[in-house]
Amino acid sequence: MDSTISKFYQKSRQERIKLLAEKGFLTEQGEQLLMDEQLLDATIADNMIENQLSQFPLPIGVALNFLVNQKDVIVPMVTEEPSVIAASSNGAKMIRSGGGFTTEIHERAMIGQLIFKDVPDIEAAAKMIQDKESDIIEIASRAHPSIVKRGGGVKRVETRIITNEERAPEYLTVHLIVDVQEAMGANTINTILEATAEPITNWIKGSTLMQILSNYGDASLVTAKCEIPVTVLATQEYSGAEVANRISEATHYAHLDPYRAATHNKGIMNGIDAVVMASGNDTRAIEAGAHAYASRTGRYKGMSNWFVNEAGNLVGELTLPMPVGTVGGAISVLPLVKANQELLQIHQATELASIIVSVGLAQNLSALKALVTEGIQRGHMSLQAKALAIHAGATGDEIEQVVAELRKAPQMNLATAQAILKKIN
Ligand code: NDP
Repeated sequence: MDSTISKFYQKSRQERIKLLAEKGFLTEQGEQLLMDEQLLDATIADNMIENQLSQFPLPIGVALNFLVNQKDVIVPMVTEEPSVIAASSNGAKMIRSGGGFTTEIHERAMIGQLIFKDVPDIEAAAKMIQDKESDIIEIASRAHPSIVKRGGGVKRVETRIITNEERAPEYLTVHLIVDVQEAMGANTINTILEATAEPITNWIKGSTLMQILSNYGDASLVTAKCEIPVTVLATQEYSGAEVANRISEATHYAHLDPYRAATHNKGIMNGIDAVVMASGNDTRAIEAGAHAYASRTGRYKGMSNWFVNEAGNLVGELTLPMPVGTVGGAISVLPLVKANQELLQIHQATELASIIVSVGLAQNLSALKALVTEGIQRGHMSLQAKALAIHAGATGDEIEQVVAELRKAPQMNLATAQAILKKIN
């Protein structure tokens, strides 16, 4: 199966779905789910959230050209922003020319925090907890036997002494590092934390402030890497080597200036959030973890790194916490997630996490290349043309007519779109 499909964007919605099914990226069931364009079942919608009124559809599309660990995948993305999918596909195409993405899973575990206050002797309590690690693991296993049966559960216990502004020890925080198997694990962790809080409180004679998972998921780090021959980066104005050096300098700058880092990282998260959403995972959890990790040195920095290696190729690296699941939460409830999991060719949460971090790297390359060469506005606005045409009131065939004229217009804005539409009618 090959994820490079020429002129995919020129096909109709139905043709695109059929083509993906023919290529083996979708089963009959997945194909039908996408063809149907159905809203959620009313009972599901009413039970997913509180005070439900209606539904709020967003488009789902696919990014092409992704080769992750030598496997072709089609990347489903839910987003309201034009240009995200085009940029992702474009970045993946350049990266493919160098052999695609390779990824590394550093660990796959979630962190649960038990925060204790008023502990009489914090240092002694920390030592006691380390000594009682196996008792804590035993209590956790009894509280959540199903995760242990699946091969997961608490892997280790860590302690942290949290100091106040005067650098005096104030809180004792216990981290339970939990293997949550295929789930994101929020509820699994919270069950385990509640069961372990009471016995630990009794041992250390303090009281609990709270217990909750940490979204700073540095026990779920994933790295995506790529190496690209610089020739594929050349533009009319710049040689490939010049573009590569400018991209490298752009990441150097994003490590120095938080004003730029925030925008650099927002671009990365454009792609990541869209796949996290399409896979039924929690976008806020991933965002929180990613930005916390970007601040790990005490300064908020750009998340990615690009440099030119000795062979003269452009190398890209992105490491992020990616504690996503393939079961549980909304994943098991939203019907379209099944079709999206088929497109992604995933059977395990680690495969999903690898693809998501790769998407972040592709998105980043595409944005950086545009920024250090022609600027993003030309490409971005030409993809915004459809949205402008619709905003101006164009419907059906009018949309393409307005878009064609808008692309030729000196100023691409709403007033121009409205004027073109008036001229057509
Ligand atoms: P669930 O509460 O749905 O738990 C996972 C479920 O999947 C369990 O019922 C488990 O079964 C089942 N399961 C089936 N197969 C497997 C397998 N192979 N591995 C692991 N579990 C399996 O989901 P999560 O605990 O993952 O929680 C995710 C949700 O929690 C998200 O919706 C998130 O938004 C939300 N949340 C997030 C928080 C945060 O990020 N701070 C805080 C609180 C909630 P069994 O019961 O038999 O173990």
